[in-house]
Amino acid sequence: MSFSTLGLAPSLLNAIAEIGYHEPTPIQSAAIPAILRGEDVLGAAQTGSGKTAAFALPLLQSLLEKRGGPRQLHGLILVPTRELAVQVGEVVRKLVSHLPSPYKVAIVFGGVSINPQMMALRGGADIVVATPGRLLDLVDHNALNLSSTATLVLDEADRLLDLGFSEELGRILELLPEQRQNLFFSATFPPAVQKLADSMLRQPTRIEV
Ligand code: AMP
Repeated sequence: MSFSTLGLAPSLLNAIAEIGYHEPTPIQSAAIPAILRGEDVLGAAQTGSGKTAAFALPLLQSLLEKRGGPRQLHGLILVPTRELAVQVGEVVRKLVSHLPSPYKVAIVFGGVSINPQMMALRGGADIVVATPGRLLDLVDHNALNLSSTATLVLDEADRLLDLGFSEELGRILELLPEQRQNLFFSATFPPAVQKLADSMLRQPTRIEV
């Protein structure tokens, strides 16, 4: 299997080659074509499977295909912890740094002062990687508007629920446009996680690796 058969744009194939990925991991081979077709995806995958690039590459492709105009939030990636926000955000930024367009990726999380994050969001962001509570604080401060979000990613959905973010997720879902693509990743699927997936996803493609 090669990255070049998955439907990715030349600039992304170039970025992948520059970063040094030689072939897609199983979740990348399965998820990338489905996400590029615009499908919702339900992915059962662990950390280390390459799931970050599996959702980030198609997300960047839809950003590349977007018409110009003022910067509006395109992709929202929700994660349970600050550590994961930084880790995921850095993967996305690294990919972006190999693209011809200067897309803006904001990483926001709680437990630190909100002011620098508000400053960083001035002028908008193309992709935001966020923990749920801080995301809502930023929305409440009018630092961020979610109404144009084209793609929502839930990363480690089981941990999001374990950490008690259910109510925040409910509020965030209400702020997002009805018409959007949903990508849902979790390592485990206990009933509460399955219920959240059922409530969010439209006829998802299921991927297990
Ligand atoms: P993740 O599961 O997204 O946290 O990724 C785990 C690790 O695998 C990260 O260090 C990635 O940089 C790396 N990785 C992701 N995709 C590939 C690939 N196709 N080839 C080689 N390494 C990869």
